[in-house]
Amino acid sequence: MKAYTTIFAQILRLRQTCCHPTLVRNQDVVTEEELAGAEADAAAGLSDDMDLQSLIQQFTAATTSDEKDANAFGTHVLEQIRDEAVNECPICSEEPMIDQTVTGCWHSACQKCLLDYMKHHTDRHEVPRCFSCRKPLSSRDIFQVVRHDDDIDTSQNSPKISLQRLGVNESSSKVVSLMKHLRELRREHPRMKSVVFSQFTSFMSLIEPALTKANMRFLRLDGTINQKTRAAILKEFAACDKFTILLLSLRAGGVGLNLTQAKRVFMMDPWWSFAVEAQAIDRVHRMGQDEEVKVYRFICKDSVEERMLKVQDRKKFM
Ligand SMILES: [Zn+2]
Ligand SMILES: [Zn+2]
Repeated sequence: MKAYTTIFAQILRLRQTCCHPTLVRNQDVVTEEELAGAEADAAAGLSDDMDLQSLIQQFTAATTSDEKDANAFGTHVLEQIRDEAVNECPICSEEPMIDQTVTGCWHSACQKCLLDYMKHHTDRHEVPRCFSCRKPLSSRDIFQVVRHDDDIDTSQNSPKISLQRLGVNESSSKVVSLMKHLRELRREHPRMKSVVFSQFTSFMSLIEPALTKANMRFLRLDGTINQKTRAAILKEFAACDKFTILLLSLRAGGVGLNLTQAKRVFMMDPWWSFAVEAQAIDRVHRMGQDEEVKVYRFICKDSVEERMLKVQDRKKFM
């Protein structure tokens, strides 16, 4: 019996890996890395995801003239990005740059040029230095310019622009893919409501920051929430008429719920039996649903999840 339990524990690990690599990493190491990163960021005034407009405001709000001088270049670069100024890549001379990418010292180049340039140096065991100002470049401090045409900054009346640390926001392909779907959905249906199902509350906690970053309103319901709060959350989800996502754990949302206000269902991970998934989907697709419902299931290719689908198929015929 013990051997069985061990095997299931291992399979569970594999399934969690499909959702997000952080779920199976040693938590102490993850915490240490996060702390070290946070300290470096606090010192440099950087973060994983920075709103361009707020950065410009921060820079221009400097009071002493020394600070103003130091910030002048950064402000200039950021304003050019905001105004979509066409600039040449200092490495390949392409104009405009392809996938403009900014360093911690606010110099920019095409993403590929910059990464190739850094790799060229690290391959020779040299510390890469900025192609423009010669400051040492760290692979942590490379930021991608991302324009969100589904998310309008009302004060500027233009799409929000963010500088996102390269790599960090792509830590899980499921989260990236989910966000892509949700952004498209918000663009097409700015008031639509969706339900995102997962079996792992730890995974739900990793989806939350991505939603917050994208400025998406969400509610969360999992097994730890008491009856009273649960009722309040469901009532709120039913009543609101804004683009809203309900994060629901498969256990909390399997039975008894009526979620016909939602029109999209995202199943983040498969269950051993399709019946359990179907039951969850039926919360949305049931009597009272007056519109077409689309269901998206996220399955990692060539992984334990594909095996699970095979098990599901076998069970369907039993
Ligand atoms: Zn280039
Ligand atoms: Zn530089």
